[in-house]
Amino acid sequence: MLIYTHLDCIEHRVPSGHPERPERLAHLLKHLENVGVTDDFPLQSAPKIDSAQVNNAHEIHYFASLATQKPLEGIEALDPDTWMSPGSLDAAAYAAGAVWQGVNDVIAGRDSRVFCAVRPPGHHAEYSSPMGFCLLNSVAIAAINALKIPGINKVAILDFDVHHGNGTVNLCQDNPDILVCSSFQHPFYPGRFHEVDRPNIVNTPLLSGTKGDAFRHAITRDWWPAIQRHQPDLILLSAGFDGHRADPLAQLQLAEADYFWITQEIVALAKQYAQGRIVSALEGGYDLQALGTSVVAHLEALKA
Ligand SMILES: [Zn+2]
Repeated sequence: MLIYTHLDCIEHRVPSGHPERPERLAHLLKHLENVGVTDDFPLQSAPKIDSAQVNNAHEIHYFASLATQKPLEGIEALDPDTWMSPGSLDAAAYAAGAVWQGVNDVIAGRDSRVFCAVRPPGHHAEYSSPMGFCLLNSVAIAAINALKIPGINKVAILDFDVHHGNGTVNLCQDNPDILVCSSFQHPFYPGRFHEVDRPNIVNTPLLSGTKGDAFRHAITRDWWPAIQRHQPDLILLSAGFDGHRADPLAQLQLAEADYFWITQEIVALAKQYAQGRIVSALEGGYDLQALGTSVVAHLEALKA
């Protein structure tokens, strides 16, 4: 297993009190060190994504237009949730670059599992607009570009963040070679693209208060048959941990054991269909302690 990060991902600044704050990543990296994960899997430095890869996925002028909105100092709102500081675009470019590097690593056989400890998250970023703390849709960018690599004919994106991956559905819905499965609290933010009805889009809404057993039942019912039908050559994860019962932003009741379970099941499917290839990217997770322990549970299963 390889773990990518970049310290410049901490340099994406937001207003005081914003949940998607630099401390998320700083705390996570410290926790991975404290529990010994980084002894076995030393942190690798992520490269930046190239604009060409971004332009293959987002609207062709989107990346350039984000650059023109970058403040020279302070922070500026792109929408009430989504902010830009002088370091934000570089942070997003390292986040997307980590996932794309991970894809290249697993396809080249350097390793079969990659986790990207990065921020800002990406799955709410739509085709031509930032949204919900997200600037670049790192996982969708990686999926769309991966299909250009010989031997990668089908990709699956599995998104277990508590929020629906509206941006990922928006970017991938017209590409039948990309399966997108997203579980999410509903009704809830963002309330967009969650009713798309296509064979390659699997939306799994969960009521507020859903506990681990019901979560596992819904995933088993909706996701595993879809993956068996799709037979992906590569699996990407939008790994958000804000469905944890301690998370302040949402009301699901998941625990570390649920993140271990879903990861273990995905690893088994990846071994069956995708030569074990999984690249997992951090999305949400806003209780610092629960984020640390949940990621460790995720990595415990991912490394197997
Ligand atoms: Zn989320």
